[in-house]
Amino acid sequence: MKHRIVVLGAGYAGAFVAGTLARRLSPADTEITVVNAVPDFVQRMRLHQLAAGQDIEAPKLADVFAGTGIRLRVARVTAVDPERQVVVVADAVGGGEIGYDTLLYALGSRGDNHAVPGAAEHAFDIASRPSALRLRERLDGLGGRGEGRNVVVVGDGLTGIEAATEIAESRPGLSVTLIARGELGARLSEGARGHLRRACDRLGITVLEHTSVDAVEATRVLCTDGSVLASDATVWTAGFVVDPIAAAGGLEVTENGRIVVDRTMRSVSHPNVYAIGDSVYAVGDNGLPLPMSCASAGYTGGQATEAIVGRLTGRKVPNTKLVYTYNTISLGRRDGILQTVDDEGQAKPKHMGGRKPARIKELTIKAALWATSHPTFGLPKRKRRLAAADASPENRVAA
Ligand SMILES: Cc1cc2nc3c(=O)[nH]c(=O)nc-3n(C[C@H](O)[C@H](O)[C@H](O)COP(=O)(O)OP(=O)(O)OC[C@H]3O[C@@H](n4cnc5c(N)ncnc54)[C@H](O)[C@@H]3O)c2cc1C
Repeated sequence: MKHRIVVLGAGYAGAFVAGTLARRLSPADTEITVVNAVPDFVQRMRLHQLAAGQDIEAPKLADVFAGTGIRLRVARVTAVDPERQVVVVADAVGGGEIGYDTLLYALGSRGDNHAVPGAAEHAFDIASRPSALRLRERLDGLGGRGEGRNVVVVGDGLTGIEAATEIAESRPGLSVTLIARGELGARLSEGARGHLRRACDRLGITVLEHTSVDAVEATRVLCTDGSVLASDATVWTAGFVVDPIAAAGGLEVTENGRIVVDRTMRSVSHPNVYAIGDSVYAVGDNGLPLPMSCASAGYTGGQATEAIVGRLTGRKVPNTKLVYTYNTISLGRRDGILQTVDDEGQAKPKHMGGRKPARIKELTIKAALWATSHPTFGLPKRKRRLAAADASPENRVAA
């Protein structure tokens, strides 16, 4: 009987690792099934662009995995039962259970908009495609270029900065306010903070520093200091959370639900479960938790791949690098910041601002999409034929 690998989630982490596993393991011995809630690959790193009104590429997962032997099941994961080694899914035809021998959990994260009253009801987040599209619809509904209408972006983490600058650049008639709890871009170096401030000035963004939000209403944002901001669209970017599926299934998780793993991304409570991407609590080589990011998805995915391949083939499992060295932040389409970080995760004085980091970021995102959507690149022809035969329509679970 073939070894059944089930990959939950086909985002940056899951899609890439599924493709790599298909390339490295024999289809004669293994069967790989990917479960994803939607039929296409969502470029999450571009969702602020989508919200601002740009169109972004979303390749069909069925095309991405064509010729790999991977079985694609478009369904929502509702539960995992690591004792029985099954995953429960729901789809248009009712769903069911999928059994596994090895589970790779890569369900990512979603926006945390429950932090203050009214945010869940009245604010928009850009952590998922449906929510980014809802924001876009609201911005479109503000008329023309949105002259005289107000957008308030809450949170000056990387997502908040990218959202505020992208919206201000794409819709110059809007009045955009960015709310920072401390100093703007507090985690950046002094030079990078200066660059960010100049970019906000150039784009006409009002920055409110040292400001906390108490509540969000349909057309207002209420701040702790008593000030009230008129808002036609409030964008909530202050934090990401994971779904409680792993915790509910009994996997060992942190207090915020991320799966606890060893150095090889293997669950410490259930050894045939691996976790990667935003869902995992992975400690980097500097002893600090890796941040939720595409880079971490790559590092944790690379390590899990080595571990799964090693354990199935009897090869020694190498330790791959788990390091986080820099951030690139887009400030609209023509400006950006590259910030290097030290071993303690703190910003180094060294940074780059302007068109060059914007181009580096664009290339990084394109490379991530290319790598994810070309899983058969480098696959020997014979193996590709075998895989394609294995994924013939009668073999596929659902696509
Ligand atoms: C606007 C924005 C900009 C960002 N910019 C950057 C950046 O510049 N650099 C950076 O490093 N990071 C950035 N990030 C963070 C980065 O996108 C995430 O860290 C990364 O996507 C994590 O990868 P993942 O595979 O774990 O999760 P995801 O890419 O979110 O993939 C999770 C997958 O699981 C599927 N899924 C979720 N729940 C279920 C379910 N119950 N059933 C079935 N399928 C499910 C989803 O449909 C999705 O396909 C950004 C995030 C956002 C929102």
